[in-house]
Amino acid sequence: MNISAPVAPPQWLSAVSLATTPLLQEPLSKHTSYGIGGPAEVFAKPTTQAELAQLLRAATGAGVPIQFLGSGSNCLVSDTGVKGLMISLAGAFKQLDIKGSKVVAQSGVMLGHMVKLCLKGGLTGMESLVGVPGTVGGALIMNAGAFGGEISMYLERAAVLTLKGEAKEYGRDELSFSYRESSFAGDEIIIEATFNFPEGDTDESATRKAEASARRKASQPLTFRSAGSVFKNPSSGMAAGMLIDQAGLKGTRRGGAEISSKHANFVINHGSASSDDVAHLIKLAAKTVKEQHGVQLELEIRTLGFEPGFWEEAGLGK
Ligand SMILES: Cc1cc2nc3c(=O)[nH]c(=O)nc-3n(C[C@H](O)[C@H](O)[C@H](O)COP(=O)(O)OP(=O)(O)OC[C@H]3O[C@@H](n4cnc5c(N)ncnc54)[C@H](O)[C@@H]3O)c2cc1C
Repeated sequence: MNISAPVAPPQWLSAVSLATTPLLQEPLSKHTSYGIGGPAEVFAKPTTQAELAQLLRAATGAGVPIQFLGSGSNCLVSDTGVKGLMISLAGAFKQLDIKGSKVVAQSGVMLGHMVKLCLKGGLTGMESLVGVPGTVGGALIMNAGAFGGEISMYLERAAVLTLKGEAKEYGRDELSFSYRESSFAGDEIIIEATFNFPEGDTDESATRKAEASARRKASQPLTFRSAGSVFKNPSSGMAAGMLIDQAGLKGTRRGGAEISSKHANFVINHGSASSDDVAHLIKLAAKTVKEQHGVQLELEIRTLGFEPGFWEEAGLGK
């Protein structure tokens, strides 16, 4: 049996007192939908704004790099993991209040849960997002969307904390959103969002929800672990999956990873894939599509912990 020596907590953590003790060398494979990813040096799940502020101040004061994770459903983490502090609000920050058409959701609320409660309360607009995994915080950063709906459509305001633990609020007109992009600063963590959803016909909403769910099941490899679509569609008439399919790459495997034979924009984990396997197929798809169609694909997923320049040979400079 391989018993590794316990890791000593870094000095800066001694100034921090959280209800849930931060984990050292925590495998991020436990916190991503891919089930892949090396360790975070320190992985913390603060449960209150005060705890989060304290943690941010301590890490920033010590010059520790800080990154954020929601439920990890749009992230590929390298096999070597990430340095410094990883903060996740998923599983905490779960409060959701509905008053009339106003919905105030903390950023750790699961998107599907919010959609369900909205529909129950007669609020519409988000039913096409049923089946998008992830937290409200992650969905806002990514401007998650499906079948014509996007999370930003009914956003009113968002509250964040800076890396110094200072609270800030943004009104909708101070933020901009586009296809899978938002203008939130990368060094601010979203803690809460307020939405104003229209009231609507519950039967029509239930039908739209069922249609979205059926379309998703019919077209996506949902029985395998993945991070959803790997690439953005280059334009509304040109799907990344179609280009990868036409390049003959559907079903291509490397180790435990595969360019899904059901939906070529999904790289799936058959159970034993490494991050390197997935990254290899992503680069292969981007390079082949560029060679065959002259189209440079752009990553939709977020990549964490890769060496600088790792993605550049495939034109994926992230
Ligand atoms: C099967 C499957 C289907 C999917 N289908 C869709 C789809 O139809 N449409 C779609 O848009 N997406 C889809 N996705 C991708 C993913 O579910 C969404 O992007 C989701 O919104 C990500 O939320 P998350 O909490 O998991 O974010 P994460 O993956 O944890 O993080 C995403 C990004 O947000 C940042 N982040 C997360 N939380 C915070 C926070 N509180 N403050 C600041 N930064 C934060 C992270 O640093 C990272 O950069 C799919 C994924 C899967 C696995």
